[in-house]
Amino acid sequence: MKNQHLEITCGRPLAQCLEEIEAFHGFKAPGMVLGLFMVHRAREQMGPGVEADAIVETRHCLPDAVQLFTPCTVGNGWLKILDWDKYALSLYDRHTRDGWRVWFDLEKARAFPVLYQWFMRLAPKKALPLETLLEAVLAAGAEVLSERAIQVTDFYQRQKKGGINLCPDCGEAFAAVQGERCLACQGSGYYRCRRDSSLRSG
Ligand SMILES: [Zn+2]
Repeated sequence: MKNQHLEITCGRPLAQCLEEIEAFHGFKAPGMVLGLFMVHRAREQMGPGVEADAIVETRHCLPDAVQLFTPCTVGNGWLKILDWDKYALSLYDRHTRDGWRVWFDLEKARAFPVLYQWFMRLAPKKALPLETLLEAVLAAGAEVLSERAIQVTDFYQRQKKGGINLCPDCGEAFAAVQGERCLACQGSGYYRCRRDSSLRSG
């Protein structure tokens, strides 16, 4: 296995990155370690000193890697997530929209059967313990990645904050585009109030 202490990934030793992944995600998720290599590759291609926004093409693991190893987060609006279940991400200059897309390349992954089976969900979970997967991801590193120079043509718009209304039913503030009442009070909420609960505040 490669020397994890000397290898610099995303500006710090790989071993430190792995610890940060564990602290952030709860365990050393193989998908996030793969994501770390992807972010590293994209950042290398972009070069230093570029204010890059990010787009990821899956909701699974990859957004966390971007949030941990770039300044882009969902909350600051620099990271956008497309629910396409593609293991790919793009970093791009937010002014010129020139960037790089990096993806997990299945053809290259064929040389790493454990990775291939895991990614294609061909093996039952029990057959691929975390340690085995992690070893496979670390052994493959960037060898299972491909990248292309791109120009971003959509999804680059920053979401502007719109007007705010006060809901006459619940008294909470909400996005004015929802109408007079908030969606929850219109019956389109995602929760109901339990009978045994009382209102708590402070
Ligand atoms: Zn309401």
